[in-house]
Amino acid sequence: MNNSKELVSSLFPENVTVDKNNLMIGDLKISNIVEEFGSPLYLYDFDTIKQQYDDFRQTFSNHYGELDILYASKVFLNLPIAKMLNAMNVKFDVVSHGEISLLLSANISLSNAYFHGNNKTIEEIDLAVANNIGAIIIDNLEEIEIVDEISSKYKPQKVLLRVTPNIDPYTHEKTTTGLKDSKFGLNMDDGSAENAIELIASKKNIFFAGIHAHLGSPINFIEPYQDAIDKMFKFIKEICIDKHRLEFYEFSPGGGFGIVSEPGMVNPSINDFALAISESIKSNCEKYSIDLPKLFIEPGRSLMARSGLSIYKVGSRKIIKDVRTYLSVDGGMSDNIRPTLYDAKYFALPLNGLDREFNDLVTIAGKYCESGDYLIKDILLPKLVRDEYIVVPMSGAYQLAMASNYNLAYKPAVIAFTDNQIKLIRKRESIDDIIALDAI
Ligand code: PLP
Repeated sequence: MNNSKELVSSLFPENVTVDKNNLMIGDLKISNIVEEFGSPLYLYDFDTIKQQYDDFRQTFSNHYGELDILYASKVFLNLPIAKMLNAMNVKFDVVSHGEISLLLSANISLSNAYFHGNNKTIEEIDLAVANNIGAIIIDNLEEIEIVDEISSKYKPQKVLLRVTPNIDPYTHEKTTTGLKDSKFGLNMDDGSAENAIELIASKKNIFFAGIHAHLGSPINFIEPYQDAIDKMFKFIKEICIDKHRLEFYEFSPGGGFGIVSEPGMVNPSINDFALAISESIKSNCEKYSIDLPKLFIEPGRSLMARSGLSIYKVGSRKIIKDVRTYLSVDGGMSDNIRPTLYDAKYFALPLNGLDREFNDLVTIAGKYCESGDYLIKDILLPKLVRDEYIVVPMSGAYQLAMASNYNLAYKPAVIAFTDNQIKLIRKRESIDDIIALDAI
């Protein structure tokens, strides 16, 4: 007995179902897709991305009114994904020359993108400003001078200030960004954020629109958002509006919205986040007699994770008596470094034979040369044998985007399920791709 059907409906993409104990996407047996394209394989369900996006837009609009949704491109960006999101009116948070250039290659107007980053280069800022970037999110004092100077060659540039509110989002320390000791943003407690406002107010070629904070990722509580918003609005009223007479009309609490990634996990819903954020902003605006600003949010993981599956082929089994059993697969830290990097937790099912008993306790190891290369520690699965496939749901965010060629691994192919059919959206790498840049 197992509860595969229930797990599939809560953790897998919309179009994935169980039929005759096999996992299907639409009418297609997923193992047949992997046979065709090879493993490891990444499979995105575009309907799930659309549904998550609609959910964000609808829910935040119900509680707050109009808002912009900026996709955190760092989650995974390639041409088909960028075009698909752009067609849905999603805007973009970009952090690099590469992300900016990809949008330009996809003919997406940079006016629909905001540029983040703690060390934007002069070349990157020039590219962004020259191409009418929607806004630059100022991350440090030096950047104010640089953006002002570069903008003098083009036209006045809209900027927002990223502040560090010193509020703990209770997530992994490596993905915490809103505490005092962070390389991101300007500290609100030591006068740095105020100094930045003063400097921005003195510049001719940049104009201030508002403030932004991103506390970390994933955040599984609503209170850090509420606390950060309270602190940010006090700052907006006292420093930006009253002291420096700046016009304030845009606000963002960033992204970071946590998701349910394992069975049994509880997490605030999009509605919980939307309600808490909207109410906090509204009550602060009332308290300080400020007009409601334009809101933008930057969901990454919560928009994409559930739409993606990673699929691996089972290889060797190593039983260490009284210790653990390693079941190795043909991928690992090269395509998903998150468990190794910050203990990210995942879950897996076999693609076929779901009616078997889940009584084999294994650790799913990758095939790369690090002891820390594992995907899931201690999971109960049926007794899988070589060449069977396992699928890891919630794989759509920060996996491929962080993929490497460690051990000269070929990055996997990526397939989209869209309009009831499958479509290759990124080819598997080959040795030719790997050696193409070697200079001999
Ligand atoms: N906004 C900013 C500035 C970020 O740095 C990130 C991710 O680190 C995000 C948004 C997206 O976070 P998440 O994927 O958790 O929603």
